[in-house]
Amino acid sequence: MKRTLFCSNVNKLLFIEGSKRCSVENCRCDETIVIDDLFELYAHLYSLMDGNNIISYLDYYKRDPDFRNSDKAIFEMESKKWGEHIEVHPYDTIYSTKIDNELIPLLKSQFEDVTHAKQFLIYTFAWIRIIDNHVGKLIDKNKQRRLDKFPIETKKGLLLINRRGGISAYVQEKTKKYLTDPNYYSLRKQIDSVFLIPYKDLTYEVNYLRLSLDKWRKWVEFLENVGELKVAFVPGNITSFQEYSWVIEDGGADRKLFTINGVKSKMHNENIVKQLDLALENSSNIIIFPELSVSLEMQKTIIEKAKLSEEMPLVFPGSFHETSTKIFKDFEDEYCNYNYSLIHFGDNPTSIFKMNKFEFPPSNKFVDELLDFQNSTGIENISCLKRTLTLVDTPFGLLAILICIDYLIPEIQEILVNYNVSIVVVMSLTGNPSGSHFYEAMSRLGKINSTTTLLCNNPAGLYLGNHTETVVAYFPRRGKLFTSDQHVVIEKIENMIK
Ligand SMILES: [Zn+2]
Repeated sequence: MKRTLFCSNVNKLLFIEGSKRCSVENCRCDETIVIDDLFELYAHLYSLMDGNNIISYLDYYKRDPDFRNSDKAIFEMESKKWGEHIEVHPYDTIYSTKIDNELIPLLKSQFEDVTHAKQFLIYTFAWIRIIDNHVGKLIDKNKQRRLDKFPIETKKGLLLINRRGGISAYVQEKTKKYLTDPNYYSLRKQIDSVFLIPYKDLTYEVNYLRLSLDKWRKWVEFLENVGELKVAFVPGNITSFQEYSWVIEDGGADRKLFTINGVKSKMHNENIVKQLDLALENSSNIIIFPELSVSLEMQKTIIEKAKLSEEMPLVFPGSFHETSTKIFKDFEDEYCNYNYSLIHFGDNPTSIFKMNKFEFPPSNKFVDELLDFQNSTGIENISCLKRTLTLVDTPFGLLAILICIDYLIPEIQEILVNYNVSIVVVMSLTGNPSGSHFYEAMSRLGKINSTTTLLCNNPAGLYLGNHTETVVAYFPRRGKLFTSDQHVVIEKIENMIK
């Protein structure tokens, strides 16, 4: 067992069952891991401990007093060893984590006397906590700063900072409500500072970004005043599908493919500017427009205007159907449409693409130029080949940006859970944003991860159903949604959770 723990091929090790899986068949576990960085060592131990081993550990810890006593004694003993080690090799910043030739032999020698399976659990977890505590102190020294070293790519997965506080902590403080935590049995809940996301072959790539430094500093100020954070939702004035100019093509077998290439009202862009001005005059910190409401040209106008605001708001300027020629300068792609949004929160603009298509069922309410949809399902005619989920590191934790149905896709939800995403911004056009699938997704994320969801819905989508919500915000622990049917809503967090 102790050889396997330090085997360079080990993938899985079950201490209590006494079973292992190495990447080499019939591995004799003779070759010791070569690790030269503290974070690599941490990821190695973490990956072996997570899953069944941490569950066994917690189980023994709960019911066995001898186990608890042994755990305490071993943790203290190993902490002392670590203390002696760092007198010589201090690892005193998160950039000086290169380990020397002594740490792995030291660790191996500490495991030398271990004979019982339970002791393996205790020793392994002790070293995870010791390194986590040490790294945590280094992170705390730089609490206000954007730590560009993270996420750290290790052989075992990605290491991320376990950010605490933010909206979820604020709501808990205000509501005095606590949730039963379904993550209790995961290692992430047992450690303080850094958690591991194992690599998985997913259908979606993750684009990990950071706020620009000036925005980062602005948001750090709000950590002490979360309730004061002001969100402007700008659902806008499009109230029916009839207000769009449609391009409808045959999609075979009772299907019609559609793209939207404009809004008929000449006042549309003027209204957007008026509503944006209102949001900016009211010192909004987050401004969200919905799906299929703002052309790329207007998105750029919105961003330029918002840049002049002292509040330095995070702006999600809505999306529209745009052609590849408009989006890409060096255009190699075949001509196609995307549901596209351009966002600035970092040092460079970021493209957000919708990654799944919207479909709506036939209905006899479709008349005039929408007559085609009386007997045919409407399918959004966009390319979904840009399959990248954007996550932004903020002092409040990770923030995800999604367009409508992407929020409901199980694989995307899985990424949001694994990355412990704190805030999700959804730009949508849907018939029922506060019920059914959307409610299920919000409340699931809220319960599993204490995630806050801020959704801005295009009123045009309501044409499909009998609902009226243009704004929906889910706050974990609040117990009910914040909703509105207005076309501009500007509200502080403290008022939304009342
Ligand atoms: Zn092995």
